[in-house]
Amino acid sequence: MTLTYHICFCVQSALEVYKEMFLLYVEEARRQVNSRCADLEPWQIIGAAVITTLGAVWVKGFLFQQESLLSRIKKRGFRLIRKIPFIGMAIQSQLNKALDDMSASLFTLKDGMSYTKELPLTGLSQSQVLEKIKEYKSLNEVQWEKGCVSGTVYWGDETLTKLLVKVYGDFAWSNPLHPDIFPGVRKMEAEVVRMACTLFHGGPNSCGTVTSGGTESILMACKAYRDMAYERGIKYPEILAPVSVHAAFDKAAHYFGMKLVHIPLDKKTMKVDVKAMKRAISKNTAMLVCSAPQFPHGIIDPIEEVAKLAVRYNVPLHVDACLGGFLIVFMAKAGYPLAPFDFRVKGVTSISADTHKYGYAPKGSSVILYSDKKYRHYQYYVAPDWQGGIYASPSVAGSRPGGIIAACWATMIYMGENRYVDATRKIISTARKIKTEIRKIKGVFVFGDPEVSVVAIGSDVFDIFRLSNALTSKGWNLNTLQFPSSIHICCTVLHTQPGVTDQFIRDVREQVAIIMKNPKEKTTGMVICACRSEKLFSRTCLMVCWEM
Ligand SMILES: *Cc1c(COP(=O)(O)O)cnc(C)c1O
Repeated sequence: MTLTYHICFCVQSALEVYKEMFLLYVEEARRQVNSRCADLEPWQIIGAAVITTLGAVWVKGFLFQQESLLSRIKKRGFRLIRKIPFIGMAIQSQLNKALDDMSASLFTLKDGMSYTKELPLTGLSQSQVLEKIKEYKSLNEVQWEKGCVSGTVYWGDETLTKLLVKVYGDFAWSNPLHPDIFPGVRKMEAEVVRMACTLFHGGPNSCGTVTSGGTESILMACKAYRDMAYERGIKYPEILAPVSVHAAFDKAAHYFGMKLVHIPLDKKTMKVDVKAMKRAISKNTAMLVCSAPQFPHGIIDPIEEVAKLAVRYNVPLHVDACLGGFLIVFMAKAGYPLAPFDFRVKGVTSISADTHKYGYAPKGSSVILYSDKKYRHYQYYVAPDWQGGIYASPSVAGSRPGGIIAACWATMIYMGENRYVDATRKIISTARKIKTEIRKIKGVFVFGDPEVSVVAIGSDVFDIFRLSNALTSKGWNLNTLQFPSSIHICCTVLHTQPGVTDQFIRDVREQVAIIMKNPKEKTTGMVICACRSEKLFSRTCLMVCWEM
């Protein structure tokens, strides 16, 4: 009793002492400030207060922007350097040279051809149109059908093409924006989504929408999670994604006023560094992202580990399976089991998968799937007050091509599990063979341990873009990648045709052997412009592409 009383008393008197001291300090501060301001006139004090406040607001606005301070300083610095007369001119002449290279390589008109710039006064007959079409088809120089191109066309089977053209024709005029008028397309869209949900082990509450492609699927997921973050009171929502993630996330961040925080990879495995991901989680985190697999090196991120973070910090996790979604779901059945990557993993809240890649549907279709309807809700947009009536649409587009949805549906139904599993088995065994054989070649290495269809090649000995140029001259069309410099092949059904892989491996082996005779030589040509230098260079080059 007395002891308790005693402690209470001690605490009380200590508090008293602190209070006294605090008041003394306040009093002292007040005296100091007043004596310093004694000679000032009131307008001076008010003015200083206003200027300081505005200054503080400006500094905060300058330091914390959507684009990081470092990146802004870099850009500003580069712009300043270009203003220095001599250096600026040197850079410009380099740029012009690269641009000329680009234009020359993209200038595909053949003798006697020109661009049509006006409508024909009288429309052509059907046979004339078909005749003209031949001219456009003749511009194709790369024979993708033979399997010399990385990715791009994932099958293009002739039987399937005939079917698709017929189905597209039947639904050419339909538009899911008007489900009452085109209920058939609505049913097909619902079925495409449900079939995809089932493939990714979605529960009864899983749902989704069909979009125009992987980019739109990703945009929609980011938009949904941004709005969810806003509702949770987050003013500056952040996307935490591996540096290897697809550029569509940069685009989403840019479009939707979010900040994309890039998380580094483990240099050896090329998988996202989960510890770094954990450190980056903050009160502003709106979503986490993993790829299955990522585009540059074809590596699947450690989804189960990241999902644990997602659950622990209660943030949504998007799995970008745009590229390989329609391979990975069939890999177990094709004899190539993988660690769980889909809705079986607690914490995975959405998945994007492109039907127009390994789903083998024509371009312009993809799905965005959610583990629960509550997430998809945030994706929708409704304008209730529009003069044209209450306007609701699920994704970026308003009117949408019902024909493409029908063609996508028909592809999935035609393929069935058996054909998908067969195609997957062939593609994965091809990619594994390429991986194994490339690893045996001295002078080059394979990035990480790719499990799906992409194999990325690098070199510690020579400039890898020399190999890319050499293979281009042998008729191969690969992807060039940067940071670190590398090239990759994305295997499709077309690479599984007899002889294609063996030829590829033989060409790589021979060209590497030639390069290894003189490993220090430099690369020349367009690759430099597209891949190596400042991002600014490639941006300018892209502008040229678009203007053509
Ligand atoms: C292709 C791809 C996308 C989306 O691309 P689209 O061209 O819009 O279909 C997204 N992520 C990855 C990993 C991809 O390979």
